[in-house]
Amino acid sequence: MKVLVLNCGSSSLKYQLIDMSDETLLAKGLVERIGLDGARIKHVKVGSEPFIKETHIPNHDVAVKLVVDALQDPQHGVVKDLSELSAVGHRVVHGGEKFTRSVLVDQEVLKGIEEVIPLAPLHNPANLMGIKAVMHALPGTPNVAVFDTAFHQTMPAHAYMYGIPYEHYEKDRVRRYGFHGTSHFYVAHRVAEAMGRPIEELKIVTCHLGNGSSITAVSGGKSVDTSLGYGTTEGILMGTRSGNLDPSVMIYLMEKYGDPKVVSDVVHKKSGVCGISGVSSDMRDVEEAMEKGDQRCKLAFDMLCYGIKKYIGAYAAAMGGIDAIVFTAGIGENSDLVREAVCKDLEFLGVKFDPSKNKVRGKEAELTTPDSKVKVYVIPTNEELVIARDTKELALKG
Ligand code: AMP
Repeated sequence: MKVLVLNCGSSSLKYQLIDMSDETLLAKGLVERIGLDGARIKHVKVGSEPFIKETHIPNHDVAVKLVVDALQDPQHGVVKDLSELSAVGHRVVHGGEKFTRSVLVDQEVLKGIEEVIPLAPLHNPANLMGIKAVMHALPGTPNVAVFDTAFHQTMPAHAYMYGIPYEHYEKDRVRRYGFHGTSHFYVAHRVAEAMGRPIEELKIVTCHLGNGSSITAVSGGKSVDTSLGYGTTEGILMGTRSGNLDPSVMIYLMEKYGDPKVVSDVVHKKSGVCGISGVSSDMRDVEEAMEKGDQRCKLAFDMLCYGIKKYIGAYAAAMGGIDAIVFTAGIGENSDLVREAVCKDLEFLGVKFDPSKNKVRGKEAELTTPDSKVKVYVIPTNEELVIARDTKELALKG
């Protein structure tokens, strides 16, 4: 059974084709600049040179058609016939409170995804365009929607409610939703496997640290709290997003500059590691400048690591203990400096960090001594595989 996994943005589309008989990746690619000048598809058949084609790509229908053509191209393709594509899994950013797990797409599901557009106005419309484009290009092929928010729907109300009048929850749906759920789910399950213990008996803090970041408390396999909230700015410092901020700061800036759009740009696009360092949103640049003595880069680095440490402590307290800490995504998988700064003074929690094991990049590894009560792991995330697995399961059930 071959499953196509799609991640549609407003002007881009990422895809992977996975053979689910042994979960191997057959091909992957990216369609960029949809609706813009310079649009192109980059398609990679595993083990071959990338195939790149610049062409006019006015919309997602054309983008999906290009993907389908590339997959069955005699030279770069990996299937002889489209009937080999058994199902398509779609990443959908927001499922609101309606979608607590992945679902087979039908008209009602499309309506449900549309209903939560106000909660994710940039992402859900693009996700919907992707699903509809596949329905046109591959009629009769089952589509499955996998939501970034679904894993966090197990949070108790005392973790997801904000302390504002209850009517804003009822009327405006303001609450913590959380994101990166597929990634937190994957690494939590994978670390349980690596530790050889059932996830039901583990308390895990998963740290997804990338351009966007979130930290989740996973108790018994369920998300019980997470650092991203209603939108995608809460929690720790991110590439360009502020992380936690006193609401008074927003009010003050709004009153001073008189334009919510300006303030929105500040907290989403100009803050975080980028805003503090004044150098870059990319941790590689910030670490490099910090090592050459740049004090603002050092401050951004320290703020990030301090924030992560605070969440680990808070979630250990929230879960009544902790068995494992997992680092994943771009920074988590690659930055030994961040991992060491976060873990080195956590002995009081039972973490015996072993710096000699920490020089790893993008590979699964245990970073603690054998007698460490709390284990620390690097686990490369694989959201596409989770999407493909759910897609396979739901498509087989029909
Ligand atoms: P992601 O959003 O998961 O793709 O993560 C992207 C981010 O990972 C980049 O912006 C960098 O900040 C970070 N990153 C990637 N490689 C490294 C590295 N070798 N050292 C530090 N940070 C890295």
